[in-house]
Amino acid sequence: MNELEGMNPSDLGIEMHRFAAEIYPICRSITGEGIRETFKQIQKLIPVQLHEVASGTKVFDWVVPREWNIRDAYIKDSTGARVVDFRQSNLHVVNYSVPVSARLLLSELKDRLFTLPEHPDWIPYRTAYYREDWGFCLSQNRLRQLQDAEYEVCIDSTLEDGRLTWAECFLPGASTEEVLISAHACHPSLANDNLSGLTVATFLARLLSGRALRYSYRFLFIPGTIGAIAWLARNREAAGRVRHGLVLTCVGDSGGFHYKKSRRGDAEIDRAAAHVLRHCGEPAEVLDFSPYGYDERQYCSPGFNLPVGCLMRSVWGTFPEYHTSADNLDFIHPEQMARSLRLCASIVDVLEKNKKYLNRNPYCEPQLGKRNLYRSTGGESIDVEVNARLWVLNLSDGEHSLLDIAERSGLPFAAIHDAAELLLESGLLAEAAESGSDG
Ligand code: ZN
Repeated sequence: MNELEGMNPSDLGIEMHRFAAEIYPICRSITGEGIRETFKQIQKLIPVQLHEVASGTKVFDWVVPREWNIRDAYIKDSTGARVVDFRQSNLHVVNYSVPVSARLLLSELKDRLFTLPEHPDWIPYRTAYYREDWGFCLSQNRLRQLQDAEYEVCIDSTLEDGRLTWAECFLPGASTEEVLISAHACHPSLANDNLSGLTVATFLARLLSGRALRYSYRFLFIPGTIGAIAWLARNREAAGRVRHGLVLTCVGDSGGFHYKKSRRGDAEIDRAAAHVLRHCGEPAEVLDFSPYGYDERQYCSPGFNLPVGCLMRSVWGTFPEYHTSADNLDFIHPEQMARSLRLCASIVDVLEKNKKYLNRNPYCEPQLGKRNLYRSTGGESIDVEVNARLWVLNLSDGEHSLLDIAERSGLPFAAIHDAAELLLESGLLAEAAESGSDG
């Protein structure tokens, strides 16, 4: 029993939000001290190992970029006042900007200033990862206040040979087959897109650690795109052991759940996630696979074709706060994060318990009454419990898994699993020999 199991959901949500708030101010990027510092904070909660690849290393069709670090950045007016200040928001600098020190007229600077005219108070989030460039992001209102005068522009950054870093938490289970949980960690102060996924993944690892697990679990905290590509390039064998996977992102806002299927479309994770969503009591939608989005793009590239889906609440790009300063700590909610964690735990539960059984009394129905199996154990209503037992007995022919039975009966997986446990105890059911991993 670990310390999270007995915690009430509201305390758990508050603790999750507090963790997100702690790492919110860090200026992360795909490389550099910010992402490493984030991993060190995660390391305080779960056992995490850092892995590094040198700049210039070829990973499939990509090359690990130089490492970016930043200390300060500003635009100063003629009085020396900072009219744009990195210290107030790390979104003010285009992420991966090369160092700059110059005096420029506003008219010369304008092409390098990015705003969101439709949301005049918000600062956009922009990157310049794979091209040498620089720029500033600011609110439209701030831009409007600037005079057409000369400004002092400074970006105190470095772009040098260094390392790309990612973090892994591995929880060994009875099987060497793995469940992959992946979250990107490369965005600076953005809460839903980045920190919510990191936080739910971290707490899921905490929740599972110390449990006797059927599968081994690998939690990856990685820079988006290049991190997943580097991990896949360096871990072909581990990738081959992935039986189920989830990318977690945007799981803290108040929107309903969205699960994007893996490229396979009918993998066990796709069915498990869809089933759990159907019974979760919140608005939920299942989306087909598409080759854009988050790191499922890499895991589901045709050479790997891993059974990895993506769990979100609001879908990236569809909410106005996406990639802006409005995706802040007020945009994510303790309760939503705790419920996202609970949903992930339910999906894991299905994966862990989804097995096939054999009815040992397949010629007509066994007489339940004489075995005291027409009673309620107090979990569900008596009708649901007895129905679940009849479904499990009828479909346990060694061909149907508990998830198959849950889907066909329309009953929640937990009710089907409870029935199977009871029937096992009574001797009416036996575990079928595992015939392979695709259940
Ligand atoms: Zn993003």
